[in-house]
Amino acid sequence: MHCPFCSATDTKVIDSRLVSDGHQVRRRRECLACHERFTTFESAELVMPRIIKRDGSREPFNEDKLRNGLLRSLEKRPVSVEQMELAINKLKSQLRATGERELSSEMLGNIIMEQLKKLDKVAYVRFASVYRSFEDIREFGEEIAKLGDE
Ligand SMILES: [Zn+2]
Repeated sequence: MHCPFCSATDTKVIDSRLVSDGHQVRRRRECLACHERFTTFESAELVMPRIIKRDGSREPFNEDKLRNGLLRSLEKRPVSVEQMELAINKLKSQLRATGERELSSEMLGNIIMEQLKKLDKVAYVRFASVYRSFEDIREFGEEIAKLGDE
């Protein structure tokens, strides 16, 4: 990071400690060029990426929409609400872990399907059939064929 005083790029950390219950790291830095000291705060970016729809428009990630989609796919399946919520949490961590500010809806769909596949195969096929119905029917057929192989 650049020194705020002289814009030099070489700074060294002289002290580092956790703050705000461990959610942030406070660093004391010293510029190697002008020897001024300054403080930085570091925290994980917990912002969900925005979703790029097929028509190119962007929308915020919508957890309710995701939950409703999963509930529909999991109807009458032996999967508890807790298991589903766990899958949603994993999914959200996965989305954040991409580090992307924007993700295509296609990519989002793939991440959802990956989680659903682990949760319940029938729900996975249901979701995939809805999700992919306007996309590529042949690709979906291949997915079902793969399921049969497993
Ligand atoms: Zn400096």
